Amino acid sequence: MKIFDLIGIGFGPSNIALAITLEEKKQAGYPTESFFIEKQPSFAWHANMMLDNAHMQVSFLKDLATMRNPASHFTFINYLHEKSRLQDFINLKTFFPSRREFNDYLAWAAGHFDHCCAYGEEVIEVLPEKFSDEISLLRVRSRDKRQIVHERLTRSLVISIGGQPRIPESFAQIKDDPRVFHSNDYLKQIKQHAQARKIAVVGAGQSASEIFMDLHHRSDATQIDLIMRARSIKPSDDSPFVNEIFNTDFTDFVFNTPEQERGRILGEFWHTNYAAPDLVLIEQIYNVFYQQKVADIKRHRFLRRHVVRKAIAQSDGIQFTLHDLNDDREKTSTYDAVVLATGYHRDHYKSLLAPLMPYLKDCSVNRQYRINSAPSFKPAIFLQGACENSHGLSDTLLSVTAVRTDEIAQELMNVINQSNSAQPQRTVTSALA
Ligand code: NAP
Repeated sequence: MKIFDLIGIGFGPSNIALAITLEEKKQAGYPTESFFIEKQPSFAWHANMMLDNAHMQVSFLKDLATMRNPASHFTFINYLHEKSRLQDFINLKTFFPSRREFNDYLAWAAGHFDHCCAYGEEVIEVLPEKFSDEISLLRVRSRDKRQIVHERLTRSLVISIGGQPRIPESFAQIKDDPRVFHSNDYLKQIKQHAQARKIAVVGAGQSASEIFMDLHHRSDATQIDLIMRARSIKPSDDSPFVNEIFNTDFTDFVFNTPEQERGRILGEFWHTNYAAPDLVLIEQIYNVFYQQKVADIKRHRFLRRHVVRKAIAQSDGIQFTLHDLNDDREKTSTYDAVVLATGYHRDHYKSLLAPLMPYLKDCSVNRQYRINSAPSFKPAIFLQGACENSHGLSDTLLSVTAVRTDEIAQELMNVINQSNSAQPQRTVTSALA
């Protein structure tokens, strides 16, 4: 069986950027055999949040390549040039293209790597391969839509699978009810609820805000309750000094800071990214509620400091028990549909790596995003987008993506060199056989 230098799980922005870096290294005389596995049938970037008028919150200059190599073929500017839109884009006078256009840019970049990416395959597990007393390779098992299981061997792995929807505890029992869905599935699911007259949107972040405005414009007959634990919606702070926390050298600073102090820094800047919609969007929402007052109608409700204590599926809707922290009272409210715009968690990689856990200690990573492992475990496993605690708030964003792939690629070259200097591996036996 062929042995890859690297298998990437997921083919979203982080791994596309890595594929670009490896391609450019290959052209510079440092070839690697890499392969990527993506669960979606074709490239799509948050397809169910591709709302009209949604735009990027990060500058287009923080694209897949510019921060690492401004002369790359894969910059957003070159994409515009190839699409004959560069001058028109300049006339827009913006750093923040629409999400639709940025998705097209990512798809354009991804399209260069169709020969080394399997779409429509979901990785189900990663197994250790033993050679003598060492784990020298990984066996990556994935399942395609026809339920056929594929196996590939690799010397290293990079996991870039994005976030998984966070479902609040009070919804755990009814998470499979078709009337309850996460913002991650919004556009696909909302089609099934065209007749819904009362909809709850839970959360106060960019997703909740965009969805609230989208629902508001869909039908005059829909009532929306925007429900949040916070006292108000706070805007993301993208002022220049604060924005320096997303500079690439800030990653060094965060990584080298003692753990307790690092936690304090994350807390101090949490609202630059989380539960932090754009100010313009907040103003639009405020205006909707103001116009309700002008017209003296009570259509939507802005339920601040409300906690959903219980959510029960009933035949006539999803009944919430809401704790109003303002007056410390509980009340009930029933909805035809519920959108959980409650963010994401990023530890799903641990279940993929479960068979390897005895070798991976606590899954802590080094500066090059490589998981620390036992001495007998030779494969390198890298994480992209799951290292916020050690590398800072930029880790889940595009801000450091291009530069991070260079750091990972350099570590990967070391792994390849070490592996080339070791005995060639001809026979492979499964450690779990
Ligand atoms: P988010 O920023 O993490 O916000 C999640 C919201 O859900 C918060 O208001 C949080 O409230 C609330 N929440 C979490 N757990 C809850 C619970 N158990 N009960 C009640 N409320 C709960 O998520 P997001 O809005 O999906 O944004 C995620 C990331 O995607 C951000 O980086 C955002 O900028 C990005 N994004 C970008 C765009 C765009 O580029 N146009 C669009 C959407 C999202 P608390 O604060 O009370 O915990």
